[in-house]
Amino acid sequence: MMPAEGHADILIRGGEVVDGTGAPPRRADVAVAQGRVAAVGDLSNWRGDEVIEADGLVVAPGFIDMHTHSDISLLVNGRAESKLRQGVTTEVIGMCGWSPAPAPESRREAMIREVGAWAKDLEWTWGGFGDYLAALKRAGTSVNVAPVVGHGTVRAAVMGEEGRAPTAAELAAMRREVELALEAGAFGLSTGLVYAPGMWAETEEIIALAEPVGRQGGIYFSHIRSESDRLMEAIEEAIRIGRETGASVQIAHLKAEGQRNWGKTEQALARIEAARAEGVEVSYDCYPYPAWNTGLGQMLPAWAREGGAERMVERLLEERLLDKETRDRIIAFMRQAAAEGPGRWERRLISSAQSETGRAAQGRTIAQIAEQQGRDPEQVVIGLLIAERGRVGMVGFGMCEEDVKRVVSHPVGMIGSDAAARAPYGVLGEEHPHPRAYGTFARVLGRRAPCPWMRRCTR
Ligand SMILES: [Zn+2]
Repeated sequence: MMPAEGHADILIRGGEVVDGTGAPPRRADVAVAQGRVAAVGDLSNWRGDEVIEADGLVVAPGFIDMHTHSDISLLVNGRAESKLRQGVTTEVIGMCGWSPAPAPESRREAMIREVGAWAKDLEWTWGGFGDYLAALKRAGTSVNVAPVVGHGTVRAAVMGEEGRAPTAAELAAMRREVELALEAGAFGLSTGLVYAPGMWAETEEIIALAEPVGRQGGIYFSHIRSESDRLMEAIEEAIRIGRETGASVQIAHLKAEGQRNWGKTEQALARIEAARAEGVEVSYDCYPYPAWNTGLGQMLPAWAREGGAERMVERLLEERLLDKETRDRIIAFMRQAAAEGPGRWERRLISSAQSETGRAAQGRTIAQIAEQQGRDPEQVVIGLLIAERGRVGMVGFGMCEEDVKRVVSHPVGMIGSDAAARAPYGVLGEEHPHPRAYGTFARVLGRRAPCPWMRRCTR
């Protein structure tokens, strides 16, 4: 029973409460005391130190951002401004196979390089997953955090960024790392199966590592092996991993990339529903935009990315000086991909770079840069990767509006920005991030102007 009278630290009066349970909205007052919701209902006899008149407004619990990359940015600036200001109060971190731990001494330098400019003001004090969480706690964050351990990070910690299967001993060591992370508080394991080194893992390796996750009732989060031509096969693999390990499965940023795959989300959602009916708990996260965001290195063939970013850059450099043939193969690969997807370079925009010259490219498409420099787009890609030591962010306009709407509005889907917490000042404000970093949750709730990049599903 709710007390008829009471005292709240914050009293929110007369708003329309949407409580997150799926119940219909209702007009109610909300009392907050000692950081918790103390009462909801008719609280006209309550008093509050602070009273917020919410007449005509919606009152809701903070949103959970189900897929973020705030692992490092929360240490740089724990206020998480870009998230709080869209109503997010909980972030799930450690996505797409990357987490800041385990970070053994031998890997530390490479990981700091991966982090790039954000590592500038950062004191990397941790090794194990528990140490990282302790550092996060010490730093203090305005949002709650649900951490996940990255498979790519675990793999690199044990066997480097090598493009091969692990030995039995290496697999056992990786499993031990996953167990340690779970003991320290990880909610599950994430994979990034298009990125080095995650892409070198066979399904069996992932099953072996997701087993302890399933045993503890955790979640297997996956940036699956394909979001385009082989989307359905990639979903099938994720479902199999869930079925065989008992872990819940969350497919990352569900989408259908590339014009020839538009409309495939219908099939994808049907398969997810069927798997759920079969008893495999599969869900997904998504963001409400027709463009994705990833590293520019993803334009290169898989073999050129083996060994990680540094190795990739060395290879581009070597190739430039010593082995023109290999470099030509990389260029041919990109040309062929561009031929299969006409207009590709007009739809690839640089979002982040580290150097002064790289930063000048931010906010421009590869096609624009190529035209301005009088070079081929492929040369621009290689030039940028070399100059930036592989750390270039790219936005790609690859999805169509109907697919985006379909995944965002389906009841199984959860909203995940796929973005790190940022702020418009300091080191977190120096890039041109994908608008999802600031706009995801507002855009789900309502959208005024059509996106200038919007493309209909006309195949
Ligand atoms: Zn991802």
